[in-house]
Amino acid sequence: MFEPLLLSAHNPSPMTGAGNNTYLIAGDNGSAVLIDAGVGDARHLEEIDAALNKRRARLDRVLVTHGHPDHAAGAPALAATHPHATFLKTPWPGQDEKYAVQWQVIRGGDVVPAGDESVTAVATPGHSPDHLALVHEASGTIFTGDLVVLGSSVMIHASRGGDLREYMASLERLLALAPRRLLPAHGPSVEDPRALLNGYLEHRRFRERQVIAALRAGYSEVPAIAESIYDGLDSALMPAARENVRAHLEKLKADGLARDEDGRWRL
Ligand SMILES: [Zn+2]
Repeated sequence: MFEPLLLSAHNPSPMTGAGNNTYLIAGDNGSAVLIDAGVGDARHLEEIDAALNKRRARLDRVLVTHGHPDHAAGAPALAATHPHATFLKTPWPGQDEKYAVQWQVIRGGDVVPAGDESVTAVATPGHSPDHLALVHEASGTIFTGDLVVLGSSVMIHASRGGDLREYMASLERLLALAPRRLLPAHGPSVEDPRALLNGYLEHRRFRERQVIAALRAGYSEVPAIAESIYDGLDSALMPAARENVRAHLEKLKADGLARDEDGRWRL
């Protein structure tokens, strides 16, 4: 049985929901891997230690899905208490330096020991440029970081390294792996991955059609396009709506379907 242990990072907030999920995989061979580092909260560190003691395992590796602080900021605290641990992620220059550990490079296709088993990294950029998912093939489980959140959607910040075109390609990549279960970094596990991933893709395609329709109707600036699509939206949510429109416009540009001049967009 492949049963990763969910350990909360104890960092609830409007952005992280109930707090990040991290997953501990400990083997009978005495070796353990943690997927995502959390933020260094003392309760998280204690619960990791308790789980390791119970399994008589040593933390050998910390696999970080991407460099956003709620996933990576706990790395130095873990390094201090687990001197044997190595820290692995796909490089994100400019971001990785914020966390004082010696990162080792992992890329899509790499296979990493995880307890008695192994996981395979799959490059899934888009939410961030360095994003990785980790696949346990025998059980059809994928650790999906911030690719999906059940009952919600994922922010793609075009102005902060996000790329909607890559993100949608990453969702397609997951779909092609025909997973049986997704274990995200936020929210509950996903037991019907195909339905969720198809729903995500369909929703983005629907928004894209709306953005194209807004451009066709003559709206050319991001705020006006967002107003036309998200008519009546709570004003507190408008900045996120504009960010989403921006991500769609950048995707349409990369697809060769839209262009911009001095902040004015057209087809
Ligand atoms: Zn993130």
